[in-house]
Amino acid sequence: MDNKYSLDNFSRPNLELPKKNSKLLLHSCCAPCAGEIMEAVAASDIETTVYFYNPNIHPVEEYEIRKDENKRFCDALGFKFIDADYDKENWFERIKGLENEPERGERCTKCFDMRFERSALYASENDYAVYATTLGISRWKDMKQINDSGHRAAGRYDHVCYWDFNWRKQGGSSRMIEISKREEFYQQEYCGCVYSLRDTNKWRRENNRPRIKRGIKYYNIS
Ligand code: SF4
Repeated sequence: MDNKYSLDNFSRPNLELPKKNSKLLLHSCCAPCAGEIMEAVAASDIETTVYFYNPNIHPVEEYEIRKDENKRFCDALGFKFIDADYDKENWFERIKGLENEPERGERCTKCFDMRFERSALYASENDYAVYATTLGISRWKDMKQINDSGHRAAGRYDHVCYWDFNWRKQGGSSRMIEISKREEFYQQEYCGCVYSLRDTNKWRRENNRPRIKRGIKYYNIS
């Protein structure tokens, strides 16, 4: 690890996985949400594999950017990165009838369920007793909704548990932004699905803001 990634002064106290496990499967939605969590588990010597399963992200060009940004940081930290399916047809099938739900509503529950069910399945088949997600660090999300989905998916297997650690605490939220700026991560402007893109643009129109321009905005220090 080069000096940029020296974690000697990392401020979060040592993390411990549930039931004294040492290996973690970390479902990740994007680099900005994952950055702080990845540094936290690296500083605590938790052997972590990042699992990128997000068939909700639309369109595919946006999906590829978010995935590549996450992989770039995995490579920098020496984490294994699993590039799971982009099975968007299944995602649209699962979401059918919920297209007009608001963010944090029933559509999002189904979206989390789908992503976590696949993560828990991968954990079960690949000898990970613990999985977690990066989704909960964002203040835009309902943490209880995410954790309920996480536990529900883990409940399908006797030997897999969901780690519902609150990543926002102990400075996690602000460090997430600091790391995103330091790493100049791609800064997405909508949650991910075509409906969140539609609704964010609608809100912008109503508030005299410019439409989202995908693929051009990156965090920076200034
Ligand atoms: S708004 Fe976000 S969490 Fe909700 S369905 Fe769309 S992509 Fe999934």
